[in-house]
Amino acid sequence: SELVVSFGEMLIDFVPTMAGVSLAEAPAFLKAPGGAPANVAIAVARLGGGAAFVGKLGDDEFGRMLAAILRDNGVDDGGVVFDAGARTALAFVTLRADGEREFMFYRNPSADMLLAAAELNVELIKRAAVFHYGSISLIAEPCRSAHLRAMEIAKEAGALLSYDPNLREALWPSREEARTKILSIWDQADIVKVSEVELEFLTGIDSVEDDVVMKLWRPTMKLFLVTLGDQGCKYYARDFRGAVPSYKVQQVDTTGAGDAFIGALLRKIVQDPSSLQDQKKLEEAIKFANACGAITTTKKGAIPSLPSEVEVLQLMGSA
Ligand code: ATP
Repeated sequence: SELVVSFGEMLIDFVPTMAGVSLAEAPAFLKAPGGAPANVAIAVARLGGGAAFVGKLGDDEFGRMLAAILRDNGVDDGGVVFDAGARTALAFVTLRADGEREFMFYRNPSADMLLAAAELNVELIKRAAVFHYGSISLIAEPCRSAHLRAMEIAKEAGALLSYDPNLREALWPSREEARTKILSIWDQADIVKVSEVELEFLTGIDSVEDDVVMKLWRPTMKLFLVTLGDQGCKYYARDFRGAVPSYKVQQVDTTGAGDAFIGALLRKIVQDPSSLQDQKKLEEAIKFANACGAITTTKKGAIPSLPSEVEVLQLMGSA
């Protein structure tokens, strides 16, 4: 199968109608569907690939709206369950004039945190060629146990495990807890992707030199990636490593670039798993992923700016 199953949170971001204001100054907010694992599933589907999302939503207007967005984008929502008693998560988020991102979460608890292991769509997870997840679903029970169980089911069924921690410091009780829990499942993943910020958070060192990156490398990994924004990314595999520059674009809003990047890379890997052992093929796949990430920065919001395969190939061809 070429199915990518993505596990975790789907929520609504409320973003100011006006650029460069604090949350307090914002005159009004637009709702933007998000949640990194949901973005990844939609990224894969937008590229023409098979994708499914597993997670819990509130049995409310927003939850039903989000499930419809998955379906409208061609994502299998057979792994979505609804919680009668908890709301769909909300996040108010703004990029302030000083360049700092400001978050405010409404999760007390939200439906995504209440997914239980017994509610997992086991048959769907077993069909995954790649099972992808983040770390937000590790923060609180019962979702944490559901997450760990889903990883087990996928691994037993032969899926590759893909991990993008997607650090959100404000959601964790402490920085130490975040670091420990994020690293607690580090050795299980076949593919791990971190940003520069996450690399610094996890190593305590502000550098992307190979010796720093290698502190997070494990012999259990097939591929480790460090994304570098407009600089593209560095990659580390068992027998080779390198860096692949990105494409030049007019950046408007980086939201979802990392999700587009990993979604595109997973799409390429399920189409040709031998890319993980072949440096030339892997670099081609990473170029495709860089282009997909780059395009996602050229428009506001995550989901509306995820490109089709044709758009990605166009950017690659024009470079
Ligand atoms: P986010 O959290 O904003 O979704 P991230 O920090 O996880 O993103 P980035 O490193 O910003 O991830 O971006 C992911 C990939 O997208 C990069 O590796 C690169 O390929 C591409 N990309 C991001 N920004 C740009 C840009 N301005 N120009 C070209 N490519 C970009």
